[in-house]
Amino acid sequence: MMTESQAPTQAPAAIAKDRFGRVISYLRISLTDKCNLRCVYCMPEDMVFRPNSHLMQDDELLLLVRVFASLGFWKYRLTGGEPTIRHNVVEVVRGIAHTEGVRSLSMTTNGILLGELAAPLAEAGLQRINVSIDTLDPARFRRITRWGSFDEVWRGLEAAERAGLTPVKINVVVVRGFNDQDVTALAKLTLDHPWQVRFIEMMPFGDVAAFAKEQIVTDAEIRARIASEYAELDLIDDGQLDGEARMYRFAGAPGEVGFISSVTHPFCASCTRARLTADGVLRLCLLRDKEIDLLTPLRAGASEDELRETILKAIWWKPWGHGLAQEVIPLSRVMSQIGG
Ligand code: SAM
Ligand code: SF4
Repeated sequence: MMTESQAPTQAPAAIAKDRFGRVISYLRISLTDKCNLRCVYCMPEDMVFRPNSHLMQDDELLLLVRVFASLGFWKYRLTGGEPTIRHNVVEVVRGIAHTEGVRSLSMTTNGILLGELAAPLAEAGLQRINVSIDTLDPARFRRITRWGSFDEVWRGLEAAERAGLTPVKINVVVVRGFNDQDVTALAKLTLDHPWQVRFIEMMPFGDVAAFAKEQIVTDAEIRARIASEYAELDLIDDGQLDGEARMYRFAGAPGEVGFISSVTHPFCASCTRARLTADGVLRLCLLRDKEIDLLTPLRAGASEDELRETILKAIWWKPWGHGLAQEVIPLSRVMSQIGG
């Protein structure tokens, strides 16, 4: 795989652009809708998953990646559900990493299986990892994830760092009454480690929408709490977004603290991303239900050119942004079925 700084060897067949002039070049791919945890903000405990036959098989997934890459998509993140529980995940990563045009490949994971998988994933071509850890307290960790072991995830995080999947990023969703008391301890990890701790505002989806709306803790509240319990965070780069995160740092700290505030400070104007769900559907905005099925035409024999046409047309109509302020909430899928 080429690195991000190297120019592509071949010009893409066409560039995926929307009608607002945004070039869409970042694809988040859900490797599975299934998960080995049941985080309270993500899915109900009795979640029903799709049968495997409804999901993209390895060859279908790799074909679609090839088609996206030929349209200028160069940045990829693998997610889910829990991507590490996909059968053959190391070989799928290898296939994507070796696709012409793929220059950046990362993964978002709950970290449970990283202890054994971090090194093989890195060897297969994965470059970076985001691990979701909402609290450093094992009992609260179990309450939020319903089943998770904090120690297992921490060992996974350490294995990722040893394997060179760096800089390590930690995703924290803050839920009132569950982990709002943990934000300062999590931010202070950046005093001792060159990590990025990123606080994500909880977003409302489908069955868990009411819970998310009631228990959300905003970025402003998190910063105020950190300032009162420890110290003010200094804004980095004049507040320019790093991806979707606004970055801060404690004076002299090796690590950084990010805030992804999709609810209170949407970053839609600079959005460059689209999502491919595990069942092969192109989702144009995380928080809008508009989506285009790619797997059905692929299985019906559509050519790569026909799939390219379908994708270009779909991207052209990508919605400008989400409608949370107008109470428009995505209802068709929860986060794990889209790919966060
Ligand atoms: N299972 C992996 C994990 O937990 O990292 C990857 C999939 S998960 C859906 C991707 C990210 O979405 C995680 O960082 C998770 O905390 C976040 N997430 C899930 N539900 C969310 C919600 N309702 N609002 C905001 N973030 C959410
Ligand atoms: Fe699973 Fe990730 Fe959703 Fe938690 S956030 S239930 S780990 S998919």
